[in-house]
Amino acid sequence: MAQRDYYEILGVDRKASGEEIKKAYRRLAMEHHPDRNPGDAAAETAFKEAAEAYDVLRDPEKRARYDRFGHAGLSGAGSGFSSPEDIFSHFGDIFGDLFGFSMGARGGRSRNRPQQGADLRYNLEISFLQAAKGASIDISLPRNAVCPECRGTRAAPGTSTETCRQCGGMGQVRHSQGFFQISVPCPSCHGEGTLIPHPCPRCKGRGVIQEMRELKVRVPPGVDSGNRLRLRGEGEGGLNGGPNGDLYVVLSVEDDPTFERDGQNLLVTKEISFVQAALGDTVTVPTLDEEPLEVAIPKGTQSGEVFRIAKKGLPYPGQNRTGDLLVAVKVLTPTRLSARQEEILREFAELEAQKTLTRARTIIKKIGKAMGVQ
Ligand SMILES: [Zn+2]
Ligand SMILES: [Zn+2]
Repeated sequence: MAQRDYYEILGVDRKASGEEIKKAYRRLAMEHHPDRNPGDAAAETAFKEAAEAYDVLRDPEKRARYDRFGHAGLSGAGSGFSSPEDIFSHFGDIFGDLFGFSMGARGGRSRNRPQQGADLRYNLEISFLQAAKGASIDISLPRNAVCPECRGTRAAPGTSTETCRQCGGMGQVRHSQGFFQISVPCPSCHGEGTLIPHPCPRCKGRGVIQEMRELKVRVPPGVDSGNRLRLRGEGEGGLNGGPNGDLYVVLSVEDDPTFERDGQNLLVTKEISFVQAALGDTVTVPTLDEEPLEVAIPKGTQSGEVFRIAKKGLPYPGQNRTGDLLVAVKVLTPTRLSARQEEILREFAELEAQKTLTRARTIIKKIGKAMGVQ
């Protein structure tokens, strides 16, 4: 494919000065800019052509070669921009003021944008009672904070950062390698786009310092293992005036020997004697309150029966609601009996047997009546 003459593309004289070439390119770039000609393939081609021509003619060495040997003098290939993105990043200095957009997102200047600090996680183990009643717990944790000396600018007070001259603040420089042009991080600023002639002594030019933070964590009543508490703004410090991250305190609650937990309900097991079960009684049951609770066990209670005591469980965090206390009754069979106790029990058993016999006779009588037998 025959290539158009670069001077012709830019519409300038062969003796045009660098400034004239730049001006011509800016005019063409503006005219054929893809943002102004969406979907127009001809405009995109013209935009790329102009960029290629400008890339050659702005460079005195390449221009001299082109003047003497034409396209053949340029290693047999043009600069070959594949996309407008490519052109933007290559001529960032021109486009920056031309179109008024920040090159921050594309080049190394992103380091100077405000950035939110990272979120932090802290694992906090609390006792069952602290979880049930709520608590205020002091913790200390290391975190990165904005350096108070340089306020995160990374430059010593009274000095400032400079835009890197080698890369013009882009953080990237282009190298020709045979047919190709490749972008590599700028060796002068290590890809940051800025240089700090006098780094802040306090943070050694990092902009952040590590500090131990003392914090009070307010644990609301009723929390459970795995619950997260968010402490807004207590994470890592933001850079360049960005907001701090958040701190997430992840709770784990110790088991309790008395209470078992089922969500916000509490489960306790109460052992009673078989006499209490049979005759009924009032027993005491532990609760989260200091005073134990008196619970009436009705006559004829079975082992395993559960009594629900409303609102004696755990509060729902952040709600005006409380779980219940569930008391499971376990009837104990006596293992050691005195002679007298045994005697009474045998008597009891005899009465039970008679009761059963009487009941059986009554049933047989009823059946007989129903069948017409006298
Ligand atoms: Zn500092
Ligand atoms: Zn640089």
